[in-house]
Amino acid sequence: MSEDITVFEKILKKWLPANVVYEDSQVMAFTDINPVAPTHVLVIPKKKVGSFMDLKELSDADVGVFFKSVAVVAEKIGLSKDGYRVVLNCGEHGQQSVNYMHAHIIGGRQLKWPPG
Ligand code: 5GP
Repeated sequence: MSEDITVFEKILKKWLPANVVYEDSQVMAFTDINPVAPTHVLVIPKKKVGSFMDLKELSDADVGVFFKSVAVVAEKIGLSKDGYRVVLNCGEHGQQSVNYMHAHIIGGRQLKWPPG
């Protein structure tokens, strides 16, 4: 989690290619390069925040937009009928590897609980 410009900023700036499944003025969603399920999409806010642990840096309105957008993206990619999981990995113990807050939307198969 030490890079200055994260891969997600490079994707946002179109410096790196990504399979973008949804984008509007406030969020971008693209498929994970290393999917853990048949459907694995990452949603990022365009306003950078390093981690869910830093969420207080965003306005209440921006937080609301972000979480609503996760649900909108999940519906758009066809996961609403059978369900899915939303994951926000936070910091070292949470195994966050990219220092730019992102929600994983994971689905397309029966998931197990608890996670490792
Ligand atoms: P984290 O471990 O931080 O919660 O999740 C970061 C995610 O970003 C990982 O699932 C990883 O596969 C994904 N990822 C890392 N680099 C890239 C990339 O260049 N493109 C895409 N689409 N996903 C990436």
